[in-house]
Order: sequence, then structure tokens, then C-alpha cells
Amino acid sequence: MLYGALEAGGTKMVCAVGDETGKILERVSIPTTDPEETMQEIIAYFKDKEIKALGIASFGPIDLDRKSPTYGYITSTPKLAWADFDIVGKLKEALGIPVGFDTDVNGSLLGEMTWGKYRGLTDAVYITIGTGVGAGIMSGGKLIHGMLHPEAGHVPMIPHITDKYRGKCPYHNNCFEGMASGPAIEERWGQRGEELSDREEVWELEAYYIAQALTGLIMTLSPKKIILSGGVMHQARLFGLIRQKVKDNINGYLRTKELSDMDSYIVPASLNDDQGIMGCIKIAMNELALTS
Ligand code: ZN
Repeated sequence: MLYGALEAGGTKMVCAVGDETGKILERVSIPTTDPEETMQEIIAYFKDKEIKALGIASFGPIDLDRKSPTYGYITSTPKLAWADFDIVGKLKEALGIPVGFDTDVNGSLLGEMTWGKYRGLTDAVYITIGTGVGAGIMSGGKLIHGMLHPEAGHVPMIPHITDKYRGKCPYHNNCFEGMASGPAIEERWGQRGEELSDREEVWELEAYYIAQALTGLIMTLSPKKIILSGGVMHQARLFGLIRQKVKDNINGYLRTKELSDMDSYIVPASLNDDQGIMGCIKIAMNELALTS
């Protein structure tokens, strides 16, 4: 059986067709311009693919409350052309199939939990640290939505005592995203992360913020695994620094087998950057199961 996958991002829309084993059979990338033009291209791509359902993992904020009149909408996004846009409704109408919907980071987490190295876990957090910072959360086998969906990229950070940087987030300044995203690194240090590879202090400070956020998530959600991805995490030495700082932050307070092996507790994604699009396939499968 074939399923459609749409990874909806602020700069590009990745459309793919896959099967129930998570195998991606074909894919295209469409630039995200205005909804009219972009949606037309997406619909044209999926139209004759004989897919049984479509799964969307989208940038947000989005409305995931099935009882809400704006369910399936991209809501208050700063990408204004897409604000209050009914992406699920449009695709459902055009394609005439079930359309599942979740956040981009929940989609990636679902991909990892279904087909990745750590599949089968029921309690995990997936964090992407790049242009923005976002977190997908699974608890007791369920992706967490709550009143909207988690926005753990915007939790407030305690600035490091040596850090005079104000923070990049237009809403909160010194939230996780404001202090640790790629654009925050660039603005603070005057150079892009890639050009700062040999500057130890840059990554020490970066790890300080990431570890602070992770410690909060560990104490709140008690995940069994934390998966870190995104452009900033390509700086491989960050993993070691983060693991050490999380351990220091916990300071012996929690004693679990997971925390006693930090190298397998805080880990990189395992699906070669296909976790997002594969997650969309699973979102489509779940939606089909729900509606049939
Ligand atoms: Zn923020």
C-alpha cells in the first residue's frame, strides 16, 4: 500500500511516496512560496500517485485539536502568507483521502520511534537545533499535543554569567531558541557556526544552554532517550560537552540505568535525515487506521 508524505517547512516542502515499511520510493522538493502556488504544486505531485492517505509534519504553530474549528490549520506563523491557512482541509478536498497532521518535530520523533535505531521506545524527546529550536515529545507511546503542542524551544534560559548576548527570539529574547539557535550563534559571535569550529568557548557556551534545556526536560518528562538533530548539532564535539553538563546539572539526584550511560542516553538521530519524511508515512498510516 502506498502512502503520501509531506514535510512542510518554511523554506521547502518535501513531498514523497512510501510504503508501510517506511521505505521512501520517490520524493521531490518544492520551494515554499505563497500558499496558492505551493499548494498547486503539492496537489499536482500527489494527484496520480494512488496513495491511500497523506501524512503532514508541519512548521507551526499549528492547530492539532480535532474538535477545534481551525483543526488542520497553520495558525500564527511569522511566515505571514501561511498564517491561518487550512493546509489539511485543502489537501483533503483536493485528494479525497485521509490526511494526518502533526508538528515537524513530532513527525521526526515518530519516524525514529517507528523505524529508527531506538524504535519501540515509548518515552522520548526529539530536539532539533538549527535555524529554530523545536522539540517533539512522546510519553507513554503517545505524541504529546496538550492544549496546542509543546514549544520547548521557547523555554526561558538562565543566561550564562559571562554571556552578555541579549538573545535572538523576537518574543522572549533569552529563550532556548533565542540563545542557542544557529542565528543566535551567528549574531553573538559575528560568524556562522561552521566558521567557529575551532573556538572552544563557542561550543562550551552552546552546550551550557542545550544542557540547561535538556535538564529541564529530563526533570519534567522523564524521557528514556533524548535525540538531538539539526544543523547546529553537526558540530560533533557538542555531544560530549552536553552529556557532561547534563550529568553535572543532575548532580547525582536521579539514579537510573539510562542516566548511568550518557553516551546512549543523549544521541544523534539515526535515519540519515529521513526521520521527518518517514515519520510522515507513519502519520498517514495512523490516520488511515483511525478513519477506516
Ligand atoms: Zn522564544
